[in-house]
Amino acid sequence: MPEGQSQQDPKLQVEAARKAFEQEFERFAGFAEDSGTLRVLDLSSAEAQQRALADLRTRHLGKKSALAASKKMVGRVPADERAAFGQIVQQNDAEITGKIEHVEQILKSHLESARSEREAIDVTLPGRRPRRGHLHPITVVRERIEDIFVSLGYAIEDGREIETDFYNFDALNIPDNHPARAAQDTFYTADGFALRSQTSTVQIHAMQRRGAPLRMIAPGRVFRRDTPDPTHNPMFFQVEGLCVDRGISMAHLKGTVAEFLRRMFGAQTVTRFRPSYFPFTEPSAEFDFSCFKCGGAGCRICKNSGWIELGGSGMVHPNVLRGAGVDPEEFSGFAFGLGIDRMVALMYGLDDIRLLFENDIRFLEQFD
Ligand SMILES: [Zn+2]
Repeated sequence: MPEGQSQQDPKLQVEAARKAFEQEFERFAGFAEDSGTLRVLDLSSAEAQQRALADLRTRHLGKKSALAASKKMVGRVPADERAAFGQIVQQNDAEITGKIEHVEQILKSHLESARSEREAIDVTLPGRRPRRGHLHPITVVRERIEDIFVSLGYAIEDGREIETDFYNFDALNIPDNHPARAAQDTFYTADGFALRSQTSTVQIHAMQRRGAPLRMIAPGRVFRRDTPDPTHNPMFFQVEGLCVDRGISMAHLKGTVAEFLRRMFGAQTVTRFRPSYFPFTEPSAEFDFSCFKCGGAGCRICKNSGWIELGGSGMVHPNVLRGAGVDPEEFSGFAFGLGIDRMVALMYGLDDIRLLFENDIRFLEQFD
């Protein structure tokens, strides 16, 4: 038996341990007596109190606590005092455990309600409505064009934006010496691939993949080395159309373009074709339509001409059909293309198409 313990009265030792506990427990006593003390406690302070209480429990009820030591002393006190001493130890144990557990319970429920309060939604606060976006004007017009052609039985084809010389030029019957091939007109990658300068490339892919007969449109981005100005941008949107079947003539081309423009701009719209030249069509024609604003009388939009120039078209050159694996003896076809951004600029009265690509929210918000 160690010297110190034998010299001390075990009852005094228990009493000292109890006093030490009472002293330390004092700071928690308020929680047990008055819930008002708790109410002012924020979440993190309450959590700190909970940890402090757990430490207190270890110090006063743990294996190395004075109480644990006094339990070991029970066997060493004289036999006639043993029962009474044991009772004192038990009482102390029960009292300390009870007090700690009571406050533990109070803190625990306080924390639970504080946490759920923090997570709860205050329904009395005014709501913050998420701002709803809308489609870009180019997308709106592109989808309208797609809807019209889908209803005319055309498929929508998507294509790659980086092409080989074959698809961008050769297959489109663009000769080697054509200026479009020059580096000052077309963007090339370091590996010699071209950023497609027209969506006509998709025609070739589609004919190779699906063969004839075929009806398709291909909306998408194209790239040209233009210096940006109010009517030019190095990247812009085109839509290309292709119809290949037996017995397709220029009349089908004119009828289709005219019908498209009537559905786009109204039943009164008149279309006209002017002879032109493109390497991939023969014969070729540019098409204009009567001004949707003034109906042909002349205004700012049509520059007082009454007509709006829109795109190019023509009968697909036999070399193009042949190059894409379609027999020009059996099939013929027409193709047309137009600029979507240009159409958007016309429809919304924009003076500068660059506005469409700057993504300035103050500009785009006007198209909601
Ligand atoms: Zn006009």
